[in-house]
Amino acid sequence: MSGRGAGKLIMIVEDNAKNLKLARDVLRFHDFRTIEAMRGEDCVAMARERLPDLILMDVGLPGLDGVDATRLLKTDPSTTKIPVVALTASVMRSDRDRISESGFAGVIVKPIDVLRFSEQVLSYCLSSGAR
Ligand code: MN
Repeated sequence: MSGRGAGKLIMIVEDNAKNLKLARDVLRFHDFRTIEAMRGEDCVAMARERLPDLILMDVGLPGLDGVDATRLLKTDPSTTKIPVVALTASVMRSDRDRISESGFAGVIVKPIDVLRFSEQVLSYCLSSGAR
């Protein structure tokens, strides 16, 4: 039986190893495939090469942060159609404003809700249309 994720390829960008592992474990359990980056720069290069169905982007990253990385992805014709969902624990207005202006498909609040996470991810995959 094939799981909810049906082999969709999800890129998880997260610099916290525990958060990264939790997201990976939940998604793989539900039959998503996953690839990972811990730095914004790596994420941009890997996205161009692998063209994932969806990118989950931690906003707080060292160096090129999640907002800047997403802006780069959105200005590159090869990656502009990949939906990018922000992962953030921040409720600060300034962060929310930066997120809403930067081309994200949506936001998932951290810590993730392990009972709902795979459903949230799948719905962002589907709402982005067939790729
Ligand atoms: Mn972080």
